[in-house]
Amino acid sequence: MRIGVLALQGDFAEHVQMLRQLKVEAIEVRLPAHLDGLDGLIMPGGESTTFAKLALRFGLIQPLQQFAASGKAMWGTCAGLIFMAKDVGRDQPTLGVMDITVKRNAFGRQVDSFITPLVIAGLDKGTYDAVFIRAPLIETVGDNVIVLSTLLDGTIVAARENNMLATSFHPELTRDLRLHAFFLTMCQHRQ
Ligand code: GLN
Repeated sequence: MRIGVLALQGDFAEHVQMLRQLKVEAIEVRLPAHLDGLDGLIMPGGESTTFAKLALRFGLIQPLQQFAASGKAMWGTCAGLIFMAKDVGRDQPTLGVMDITVKRNAFGRQVDSFITPLVIAGLDKGTYDAVFIRAPLIETVGDNVIVLSTLLDGTIVAARENNMLATSFHPELTRDLRLHAFFLTMCQHRQ
């Protein structure tokens, strides 16, 4: 399997490392041609406004939208989630491929970062220690979106819509490979 990681900015290298630990080919994506022949794409944490600017400059907006529309698996973590969302509540360009509304920086500033155990639907073997860094929350989800995880107060932090997976937190900053493995099963079963 060949999985791409959007490598314009942010912590793409950590995703690449985790994919290699799972013995799949990991490709850094910076140009439209790098999407050719991929079975799935991860968009990492970073700064979503910077993603938008660079994706526009490198002609990636439409190819990324087409990738999502083709039914291939796409996973956004933190800034990547924001970049996938239809609505971020302000005038900020996104791919608009996933039917969720998102609130950026919903848990405060960098110093307010935290790690918390989550129950995530589809993951067995207990809770998952999730790393939140200036993270977004998912405010509302469309009819086809399945909520996979919430905080204890009900805040939505992981969701799936067909071939698209979104997590508010950073699975690439843990040693837990379960969510990456879960994403690989989505890549195998193209929607
Ligand atoms: N706060 C960032 C944004 O709005 C996301 C932070 C992250 O990816 N850790 O894009």
